[in-house]
Amino acid sequence: MESASATQSAPPATGNGASADGGAFEVHRPADGSLIRQIPIDPPERVAEVVARVRENQKEWQAIGFPGRRRWLERFRDWMIDNEPRLADVMQEETGKVRAEAEAEAPLISSAINYYSQHGEELLADETPTPNILPLRVKRLRILYRPYPVVGVITPWNFPLLLALDDAIPALFAGCAVVIKPSEFTPLSTMEAVRGWKEEVGGPGVLEVVNGLGETGGVLVDEVDFVQFTGSDRTGKVVMKRAADTLTPVSLELGGKDPLIVLRSSDLERAVNATAVGGLLNSGQACTSIERVYVEEPIYDEFVARLTDEVRGLRQGFDGRSYSAEIGAMATPAQVEIVSSHVEDAREKGARVLTGGKRKEGSGDWYEPTVIADADHSMKVMTDETFGPVIPVMKVRDADEAVRLANDTRYGLSASVFAGTSDEAEAVARRIEAGAVNVNDVLTNFFALGLPMGGWKDSGIGFRHGSYGIKKYVRPESIVVPRVKQGKRDPLWFPYTSTRRKMVNRVNRLINARGLRNRLGI
Ligand code: NAD
Repeated sequence: MESASATQSAPPATGNGASADGGAFEVHRPADGSLIRQIPIDPPERVAEVVARVRENQKEWQAIGFPGRRRWLERFRDWMIDNEPRLADVMQEETGKVRAEAEAEAPLISSAINYYSQHGEELLADETPTPNILPLRVKRLRILYRPYPVVGVITPWNFPLLLALDDAIPALFAGCAVVIKPSEFTPLSTMEAVRGWKEEVGGPGVLEVVNGLGETGGVLVDEVDFVQFTGSDRTGKVVMKRAADTLTPVSLELGGKDPLIVLRSSDLERAVNATAVGGLLNSGQACTSIERVYVEEPIYDEFVARLTDEVRGLRQGFDGRSYSAEIGAMATPAQVEIVSSHVEDAREKGARVLTGGKRKEGSGDWYEPTVIADADHSMKVMTDETFGPVIPVMKVRDADEAVRLANDTRYGLSASVFAGTSDEAEAVARRIEAGAVNVNDVLTNFFALGLPMGGWKDSGIGFRHGSYGIKKYVRPESIVVPRVKQGKRDPLWFPYTSTRRKMVNRVNRLINARGLRNRLGI
């Protein structure tokens, strides 16, 4: 089987992160490279067995209706709130995140439960469209939304708990069972949450985890009825090809290269502070990280100087529960290599590295927060997903050039535009080719759960959140029911006779033609 990340047959990786010996893989602490534990790889038969089990349990889950499911999911929310510190401990250990960021994931999941608890029933309610033509007035038309029985959720390592449950929650509300295949680098927080659902909440057997590398993800794709994938665009394409074999629908949340535009009228201080957090949150390992910045010429030098000062002042380290750092570790050693190669490529092509630009001394997966000035589109750091704590800045003549460069990418996840007024920025935002644009802000669209979140172009297919985030897990079933007593034979049925056809043709003309002359055929 083709696999875009490591496969079970690949040689063990070195350093921190997952390494496989065929029957198990190791999970390491990115902060210092030490081993946390080994996790057995679920063989294909077990993946099939787990899917078959939840498929059976899904029938009852669907049958208890939305109110019944809401009761269980609200209990899960309460458990999540009570266990936030412990979940953050587990996640911090497996990702190397700083405390403030590790603590952010569980509350966002509770928020998603509350959103769908409030809106889900209405979003999934039956619909009764008005018949579009007069003869259909004798029928009652109804659309039911029926769940895909089993959804497979395949997740990356950057927000391990959030990206697993943010997509699993609406699927569960919709009446689906869910099997999650977490990243082999960070499976522990997801395993802990699912253990909580099963053992402490006592939730029905419709939420499970299977573990392994890419191959396990591939087997899951073969077994389920809908695939919700979050990860790189490279793996996303492999998943979509594999799903084509069974005509299984997919929703793909993929990579990005999000631009941020700063126009000369901007509040410079806000733009600088937003760029720093937008580019460096989670050590730059967010799909919606600010990965390239375009600044209008008259303010370029000042912007770069202030941004460099801001980034130099950030603290980097593993802070346990102390909130004493803004920048954590990188989650995998391979990611440090990618970041390093992008920075070196920019340096060789003439960009100025103003702060950072190297690995941090010591063990573990660390790269210093970095600002690069005078970047351009000949450099990988402006065209490929860097996914690390690096902010490259490029000078532009005006808004038109900024928009042209912002759109000069195969990605289209999200973007930010800064200007003196919201109207000026919004006018530019409307020209950006991306799934979301934040005006005088960064990252915020993700938290607005009423908005669809997803990518254009190579950043994905399908959306999470809002109505899109739950409706994708259901299939419309159209039901047509008579409202009046029916005859033995309808006019369009056999036999075709000249009298009946003439009558039908006349009625068709009356229905479809517009204007009295056309309707009467004169
Ligand atoms: P990845 O594509 O390497 O892996 C993602 C998941 O896919 C892992 O669980 C992995 O085991 C699994 N996988 C690998 N090969 C597979 C195969 N052949 N079949 C099925 N599953 C397979 O991604 P990653 O390195 O873990 O995550 C980083 C990427 O995720 C970045 O590109 C980032 O932008 C993207 N991402 C996107 C979003 C979004 O919402 N758009 C959010 C977070 C991360």
